[in-house]
Amino acid sequence: SKTDELSLLAASSGNLSSSTSPQPTAGKRSSKDFIFGRVIGEGSFSTVYLAKDIHTSKELAIKVCDKRHVIREKKAEYIKREKEVLNMLSVNFKATAPFFVKLYCTFQDPDRLYFTLTYAKNGELLPYITRVGCFDIDCTRFYSAEILQALEHMHSLGIIHRDLKPENILLNEEMHILITDFGSSKILNATHRGQDVENEERAVRRRNSFVGTAQYVSPELLTDKSASPASDLWALGCIIYQMVAGVTPFHAGSEYMIFQKILKLDYICPDGFSPSAKDLVDKLLVLESSNRLGACDKEGYPSIKSHPFYQGMDFETLHQQTPPVIS
Ligand code: ATP
Repeated sequence: SKTDELSLLAASSGNLSSSTSPQPTAGKRSSKDFIFGRVIGEGSFSTVYLAKDIHTSKELAIKVCDKRHVIREKKAEYIKREKEVLNMLSVNFKATAPFFVKLYCTFQDPDRLYFTLTYAKNGELLPYITRVGCFDIDCTRFYSAEILQALEHMHSLGIIHRDLKPENILLNEEMHILITDFGSSKILNATHRGQDVENEERAVRRRNSFVGTAQYVSPELLTDKSASPASDLWALGCIIYQMVAGVTPFHAGSEYMIFQKILKLDYICPDGFSPSAKDLVDKLLVLESSNRLGACDKEGYPSIKSHPFYQGMDFETLHQQTPPVIS
């Protein structure tokens, strides 16, 4: 019912605990604490503004969702999940994997929900790939390594993103990645971690459309609609391919045709594709999720990190390194 959904939204919109808030002023915040600037972007049920915290002068991105619109679009669960995951990542902040948009606080008024987030000054990764056509090997190695480091951290917390793609990878002022858009993500409970999971959710999703974006969706999500951390490794394989080739591995005129190609593993690496990148992509784009490189690693992704493609890469200090210039 509408009342249930509204209470769900209200519950999902309380302030974060002060331990996760960077400001010493832990009290309830409202839109009066911020100066709203230009619109950075619009989603299907949200508008993101550039804003300034009047107390600290810190620049932030504030995502504003219209409650009625959220309910009309049946996105209350999506917003609740997004907040829950951003909270987990903020509480479990990892200095060697600071590659996530941070949620500072949430608040609401009668009509809207507000999420104050790290402002990713350089926007999405996608236009950078599009602009240069494709990344050189240094950029591909660096950016895919940051994504891998982020996945390692997320997966260690039992979070599967399920919609990883260059539009959801933002860039901060120093050109390091900030992963965002956790509305489609899944939190595994401890006993299920690392396995194919979530029977309880499967039936619900079978009635709805698939989770994710056609080009990056893993075969297991198309067939039995179950996701595991290895589904994000599939998406990583697609993104590495895209960085090297400039296009996604499975592209076609319609979603249906894309799905057919994915299920047949119908992709080819064009001439000139770096052989070690090809070897890595071929080991990630594997139909059987448990056979993907890294899928059987007990802790972290040592088998991916030790692939020859990443020879000499220091994953632990990526956030302190100067990213290679994209050209
Ligand atoms: P949808 O909700 O329809 O999937 P979306 O996820 O892109 O779309 P939003 O999260 O509202 O929707 O984001 C809208 C736009 O604002 C996007 O283009 C995104 O790049 C930009 N954006 C979102 N968050 C930030 C941020 N923290 N910093 C900078 N830009 C952002």
